Amino acid sequence: MAKALDKGVGAGSRIRAMTHLTDIITLPHGRPGTTRRLTIHRFGRGGGPKAYIQAGLHAGELPGMVVARHLLDHLIRLDAAGRVKGQVVLVPMANPIGLDQVLLGGHVGRFDLASGINFNRAFADLGDRVADALRPGDLDPDGETNRRVIQRALAHAAASLAPKTEADALRKILLSHAVDADYVLDLHCDSEAVMHLYTTPACWPLGVADLAVRLEAKAVFLAEQSGGEPFDEVCSTPWDRLRARHGGPDTPIPVGCSAVTVELRGEADVDDGLAAADAAALIDHLSWRGIIDAPAPAMPDLSDVATPLAGVDRVRAPVAGVALYHVRLGDRVRIGDHVATILDPASGERHPCHATADGLVWSRSQCRYAGPNDILLCIAGREVLVTSGPLLTA
Ligand SMILES: [Zn+2]
Repeated sequence: MAKALDKGVGAGSRIRAMTHLTDIITLPHGRPGTTRRLTIHRFGRGGGPKAYIQAGLHAGELPGMVVARHLLDHLIRLDAAGRVKGQVVLVPMANPIGLDQVLLGGHVGRFDLASGINFNRAFADLGDRVADALRPGDLDPDGETNRRVIQRALAHAAASLAPKTEADALRKILLSHAVDADYVLDLHCDSEAVMHLYTTPACWPLGVADLAVRLEAKAVFLAEQSGGEPFDEVCSTPWDRLRARHGGPDTPIPVGCSAVTVELRGEADVDDGLAAADAAALIDHLSWRGIIDAPAPAMPDLSDVATPLAGVDRVRAPVAGVALYHVRLGDRVRIGDHVATILDPASGERHPCHATADGLVWSRSQCRYAGPNDILLCIAGREVLVTSGPLLTA
């Protein structure tokens, strides 16, 4: 642990021990002669609420990595001033496997080339394992006590995972650092998009709205479970199932982990000024949460920005061709609006594509060469359109 002399103000000077620790972890199960390392920054003395923040789980999504660099600079400065009240774990580049996947001149950071599996899927969901292990006397009439009991049980369950591949080992390490956190922020971006968030209906009213306002999010998507075990949901949803199985008037179980996927606009929105503003908003949110000792005025409630993830209208190409968009990000459209055209340049045929929901156009595909049934753009509808199957795309 590094120590620093703070000159202080006034008559006396104070010694403050900085708490910043940097762990560099070599991933196991790599191929012979290769090494991949993960760098994890930790701040705080071990007490108080814990926030876990990671960027670049999809390794080609660069905006979050720039935000994380700004966050790290903030945290080092705040730590030196003794203002980290809780704990913060920051992983600025969460996927060294994906960072190394450059193929024919293009970066492939979303899927593990070895298995084809999306890096933000297939995380271990520890809810049932912990629910099975809990005994009647383990829980207390005090919800905060139960929060700590369950966090320890989740951490223990994560530690007992036995991955067999490098990618699963990475998943275990990331989950182990996050699953006992009170707050999890997973920084991503979309193809082309406005700022938007994903979270659960349980997490949304308990402070995620504050984050949405500070980041000026234009859309928030709620789902109890979107399928595929993405990182944020294996941190947050075990609490819902634990509450269903073990919660009661004498054994209250809180929303123990507020987990959010933050989509920092589109892949090309890599901008130092935007990232600095986003990082400042995240620091303000951590201050509002009581993790950082800094003023953070309350934000107005904009709760109508949240819509069901099952209400997203994914407008798809009816045939293959060149995608021509007739709407921009942030446009509001109505059912039946002609939002895109697929052009077959060989025949000259044009295939119109229409909205099937009223709402905000929040993302578009950067790729204008569409295959049949490819998603062209997405609209944040309020009415449920999808009643079964996974709610996320590949
Ligand atoms: Zn992503």
